[in-house]
Amino acid sequence: MALSWEPRWVRVKVKCGGIEVTTCKDLSTNLLLCPLCVDINKVCPEGKETNISVEDVPTFFTVEDLINHMKTHGSHRYSKKIKPVKGFERPEGS
Ligand SMILES: [Zn+2]
Repeated sequence: MALSWEPRWVRVKVKCGGIEVTTCKDLSTNLLLCPLCVDINKVCPEGKETNISVEDVPTFFTVEDLINHMKTHGSHRYSKKIKPVKGFERPEGS
């Protein structure tokens, strides 16, 4: 089945549970992309709207779903692209 809608990807920052994610959102369908599965610099360059069709990548209706999915990527890549909100830092040693 071919995708029939024309996407309008824009870059957004979404937040859920103290985690902030920068990713692409389609203004036509409100779907979110996983920034680890797609190159968001291509699909939604900063300050630009595109209609690139993305195939074979997961899309999400809610930020929660997206973040749950991103956790499955594993902690390495996860921590690179997502920055937890600060506030729990403890100085260690001396
Ligand atoms: Zn992903």
